[in-house]
Amino acid sequence: MSYSDAIRNIYQEQLKDIETAGVFKQERFIHSAQAADIEVEYPTGAPLKKVINMCANNYLGLSSHPEVVKAAHEGLDSRGYGMSSVRFICGTQDIHDQLEKKVTEFLGTEDTILFPSCMDANAGVFEAILNKDDVMISDRLVHASIIDGIRLCSAMHDTFKHSNMAHLEKKLQLHADKRFKVVITDGVFSMDGDTAKLDEMVELCAKYDAMVFVDDSHSSGFIGKTGRGTHEKCGVMGKIDIITTTFGKALGGASGGCVSGRRELVEMCRQKARPYLFSNTIAPVVVSGVLKVLEILSASTERRDKLEKNTEYWRKGLTEGGFILKDGDTPIVPVMLFNAKLSQDISRDLYDEGIYAIGFFFPVVPQGQARIRTQISAGHEIEHLDKALAAFTKVGKKYDILGKTKQEIIEKYGM
Ligand SMILES: *Cc1c(COP(=O)(O)O)cnc(C)c1O
Repeated sequence: MSYSDAIRNIYQEQLKDIETAGVFKQERFIHSAQAADIEVEYPTGAPLKKVINMCANNYLGLSSHPEVVKAAHEGLDSRGYGMSSVRFICGTQDIHDQLEKKVTEFLGTEDTILFPSCMDANAGVFEAILNKDDVMISDRLVHASIIDGIRLCSAMHDTFKHSNMAHLEKKLQLHADKRFKVVITDGVFSMDGDTAKLDEMVELCAKYDAMVFVDDSHSSGFIGKTGRGTHEKCGVMGKIDIITTTFGKALGGASGGCVSGRRELVEMCRQKARPYLFSNTIAPVVVSGVLKVLEILSASTERRDKLEKNTEYWRKGLTEGGFILKDGDTPIVPVMLFNAKLSQDISRDLYDEGIYAIGFFFPVVPQGQARIRTQISAGHEIEHLDKALAAFTKVGKKYDILGKTKQEIIEKYGM
């Protein structure tokens, strides 16, 4: 018996420690399609409850859009269910090639390569294009998948303080002797909803001969005037050397990701990136869905425009209601509560009021910065937002935090 009682006990203790620390993740079962209105079983075994979803990455409301679902059905019927192969053996269909070309067009880059997920794109890209003569300089708040990609690459790694361009410049000077320098950032940061200073970053990188890498997972499809991403918002389209993004958020929300950018870098990924070479790519049914999503978004900016309006409405409503928000203009709207228990209590009470919004606390966000991260969608109607605002206000009153300063909330509830 190799999995002895002693081994089992050690894991059981570790799991208990996670629970004691209050960070045990308990999943909640949704019994409906992903949308603004969902049916949730929580706690497990409880009767189903209809709630408004305020925490999905379904920014454009496309996760169960009828046209996308229809396109996915057609893909399933015409190209089958699975490929049973990686791309370079016999796992490439014409629609994979089509999707790569469409993404290239949509993002305004030179070329694109699909990955099973953006996690895989980030895991594979760095080691495919860099070696030990190079340096990767990353923002200190980049996504976990980028950190993993950096770990898998033999190039040297350094960081700069979050969005601090003076500090980045120092690091670029410090590593002047390296063969290649790559500056790495998220486009929109998922926890605070702030946007990277890509305009300044591109300028700095030109000055110091560095490449720019942006993970636009929380931007593709809706940030910028026509939803191309942070590079559009910051006026640097065509100047980002490597963009990675996911199809698992705004772009239909199923799964899949890509690396898009300079032709040679993409080709290097095709030759060398391990998650591309050794894992099946996106299933035909999903490829067909994403193709439809890009078609919808290329034809009209209606959905991202509606998202922008909804976001303004939501931010204004919460601010006027007396909540403290993180500054910003993206659909990621963190309601700051500072205290971990308070964030959990308020999340639970909101749920009772029919609002699904999750509280985040350390270690997901820094100590003393607990919050409820709300995310707005083009799938929300004003009635959804009004109902959610009423619930937030009711619960905010109960805990007496409306119109209070950060200091006052911390004095009352602690960090
Ligand atoms: C969600 C996310 C990913 C992972 O995307 P998947 O396609 O689900 O693997 C990667 N990077 C960032 C910044 C993300 O927010």
